[in-house]
Amino acid sequence: MDELQRSLLNVFTYSDLDRKVKQRKEEDRLTILQANPSARFLVFFGNQFLVAKEPRTKPCFFHAHEIDELASDITNIVFLGSRKSKHYFAAELGSIQAADRVADDGRGFTGLRECGRNLKAHNASLLSYAKAMFNWHWTHQFCGLCGSDTYSVQGGHVRRCSNEKCEKNHFPRTDPAIIVSVVRDGKCLFGRQTSWPPKRFSVIAGFVEPGESIEQAVAREVLEETNIEIGQIFYHSSQPWPFPGSIMLGFSATATSEAINLNDGELQEAHWRSIDEVVSGLEHDDFRLPTPLSIAYRLIEDWFNSYSNETLANVIKRLDADRIW
Ligand SMILES: [Zn+2]
Repeated sequence: MDELQRSLLNVFTYSDLDRKVKQRKEEDRLTILQANPSARFLVFFGNQFLVAKEPRTKPCFFHAHEIDELASDITNIVFLGSRKSKHYFAAELGSIQAADRVADDGRGFTGLRECGRNLKAHNASLLSYAKAMFNWHWTHQFCGLCGSDTYSVQGGHVRRCSNEKCEKNHFPRTDPAIIVSVVRDGKCLFGRQTSWPPKRFSVIAGFVEPGESIEQAVAREVLEETNIEIGQIFYHSSQPWPFPGSIMLGFSATATSEAINLNDGELQEAHWRSIDEVVSGLEHDDFRLPTPLSIAYRLIEDWFNSYSNETLANVIKRLDADRIW
């Protein structure tokens, strides 16, 4: 399996959307597209999407006339792209009253962490994309250069400074973060942060800093958090992570030292765990995994499956899923 295929197995990664990068710069054309019967709108409010709950969780796509009826309550619209002759937008509601009006017994607002795994792959990535865009809009209301208000242009893909003397264009941000499964003698390095749900452990992660390479970030984060030194680093896959706006770059690495020390205090505890210790921890409910939504889970799963006779998926099938993450 190559890196592209591995990445496609990560939630939020699969997409057959044409982002229409050229067309989204043509404001008049976008206005026409937005009113077209082939336009479909995700509905977003308070960091949640409107989804239909039965029979399977799926996003509610509004038509142009439904969006027209909500026009006075819509604070932002972002053009996402086109797929199979449909043109996808995401509309943000600005009032709880409007959110209440569009929700009913069969549909309601849900966060992406809650619904992400139950969505079809192309919808999961569509919602992830929309969420990252709205997160960026919320945090770039003002020009970083002169402090004036910014406004949305080019289908929501640029925020332009309203100051005539400035007019700086601001573009959507994606912050690179590394995540790495560190292995020594078949054991994997697990850590946990105080803020996580009880018993949850994961692999080491952190943001890439200015002035360093991705590989340097991997080595630095592992050393800072656990005092473990690493040798070889292997790229695994990547995953967009819109909480609020990262791209996770996944690696595996071999450790060249063993003694753990929590250097920077970011982790509450860290341990080496063998396959047997992971299985035993899951069985006795004193060890839980990160959500399968995450690339962290994929890295752990790949480590586990390469050293175990039984796959992690099979182990989980045997146990009560509520006790796994
Ligand atoms: Zn400005």
